[in-house]
Formats: sequence, C-alpha cells, structure tokens
Amino acid sequence: MDNIGPLTSAARVAAGTHHDALEVTAEELAVAASSIYGGVHRCPCGGHYIRTQDGRIVCSVHGDANHPQQPVPDAPNGGSLEMLNSFSEIRVLLTFLEDGLHAVLEIDRQ
Ligand SMILES: [Zn+2]
Repeated sequence: MDNIGPLTSAARVAAGTHHDALEVTAEELAVAASSIYGGVHRCPCGGHYIRTQDGRIVCSVHGDANHPQQPVPDAPNGGSLEMLNSFSEIRVLLTFLEDGLHAVLEIDRQ
C-alpha cells in the first residue's frame, strides 16, 4: 500500500507526455517512478500495479486503500505469507536497559 501513493503521482507525471492519460504503459510508469523516487516499486507478494480507467493505481494482489485485500496463505501470490508460514516458532525478547531497548529475535524454520 505504501507504493500506491508514489505510483499515483508518477502516473500523473508520465501522463503529462501523453494526450490521453490512459495511454501510460506499465513500463512508462516504472520509469517515471524510478526517476522521481529512485529504486523500483515492487509488491512484496509479486502483485502488479495496474492503472485503472479512472486513473487510480491498484495492486493486483492487495488492491488499494479504498478496496484493500489480503491474499490467503495458499494463494499463488502469497510469497511473503509462504515465507512467514515457513517459520515454526518466533521468539522476541525485549530488555529495557540504561542505554536503551535491546531486542533479540529468534526464528526457527520448519
Ligand atoms: Zn501488493
């Protein structure tokens, strides 16, 4: 969802070079976003960002802020959930000390 806002702005910039904003291709959107923000905007679950007819940017896996959706663990695009499900146990130990908070994270994989 954090990518939706920057990509929406990048789509407006990319649309400035076209007569019709709907002519912006996925490649042009990626180039515009990279030149403005640097790096590549990727969905952690392998979704694709799609520009709708009304100019919104939505993720094919997660939707957008108006229509959010979450993939089920066994969904083909549930990559991050597959990784999370590969853990058998996660332990977090937080200790408050004089010099700050110390955190120890232990992860056991299946
Ligand atoms: Zn996504």
